Amino acid sequence: MILREDSMTTQILGDDEGGLLLVPGSVSLSGDVQREIERPVRPHYGPEWVKAFEETTELLRTIFRTRDDVVLFFGPGSAALEASMRSCLHTRDRLLVPTNGMFAERLATIASANGIDVAPLHFDETEPIDPDAIRDSARAIGATALAVVYNETGSTLCNPLEDVCAVARELGLLTIVDAVSALGGLPLDVEAWGIDICVAVSNKCLGAPIGISPIAVSERAWQRCASSDVSPRGWYFNLQTWRDARAERRAWHPHPTTMPTSALHGLRVAAEAVARDVDGFVRHHADVATEMRSGLRKLGFRLYVEDERYASPVVTGAYALDAMDVDDYIRWLGETCRMRISPGLGRDTDRVFRVAHMGLAANLDVVAAYLELTRRYLEREP
Ligand SMILES: *Cc1c(COP(=O)(O)O)cnc(C)c1O
Repeated sequence: MILREDSMTTQILGDDEGGLLLVPGSVSLSGDVQREIERPVRPHYGPEWVKAFEETTELLRTIFRTRDDVVLFFGPGSAALEASMRSCLHTRDRLLVPTNGMFAERLATIASANGIDVAPLHFDETEPIDPDAIRDSARAIGATALAVVYNETGSTLCNPLEDVCAVARELGLLTIVDAVSALGGLPLDVEAWGIDICVAVSNKCLGAPIGISPIAVSERAWQRCASSDVSPRGWYFNLQTWRDARAERRAWHPHPTTMPTSALHGLRVAAEAVARDVDGFVRHHADVATEMRSGLRKLGFRLYVEDERYASPVVTGAYALDAMDVDDYIRWLGETCRMRISPGLGRDTDRVFRVAHMGLAANLDVVAAYLELTRRYLEREP
């Protein structure tokens, strides 16, 4: 099989358990990151740890493009989103949530579950959210805050975040962005776009292990957090707790709880590679996705999001060919080729499959290997 000749992926395919992950996060790790997390466990306090922790925070500020704070939150993206909304929204807030996929639906669900007054604004899941419609709706309902997904991983589509943020600035809305599957893979400028809270995870485009969710927090968001009237405020999910720990225990233990140290060290190594050339890293994802999209089209597939302007650069969705059984195809790739892809996550879910370009899978050789295997699957004798 062609992948076996590629030195970077051999290591991964040599492992019977995992295979090569082309799913939208968790991701297969580069050799550097893999080696880092295989080192013996290191402690979560003390000067050496604090140095690694602060370095990682700095790298994330570079990648988010912000001079404001970044909190390295221990937990999945959904927990970081929950913490952000609980901490920075007030009981009088009216939160507008434009939706065109399952992760925006989840944002609305998390906010409602925390007693926040949510107004969803629905769009078709193969269409981007519309900044003008958001402006009209925000005015009509008196919205004070906006929560929006940048890259809708389920719909394999990216939203025009920069334009949406311009509307939010114009109306003075507090802006919370789910950039969980976007950071590192899509253009993003937290400070220039005026984003108050921007949530990401280590285990998607940053190419790191699971465990840490970096959150960029603006000064305005911190002020909101300090004056929150939500009751009870909780502790772990209150970002103020994370800020206070950082201020009070700066030299020894700058976070409230035990941190996943191996994951942090892995994230540090992964983030170094991204921060070295953020624009180049982002461009690379777009090139890989373009290659994947044209390759799938040549094989006769119809793409889930046809419009190149809104197709995600980090995950591609396609309809199975008429004669194809999606489950069988996904199983064949996994069992025969040790290559893991994902089923669909939206409309027509049983006719759609998704292939991610994140971590080790954001690679032109991987795309070529995947397309070649898919060609063989289509031509094989049943
Ligand atoms: C993966 C993902 C999430 C959820 O992240 P978890 O770490 O699984 O909680 C949220 N939003 C988007 C856009 C995602 O891709």
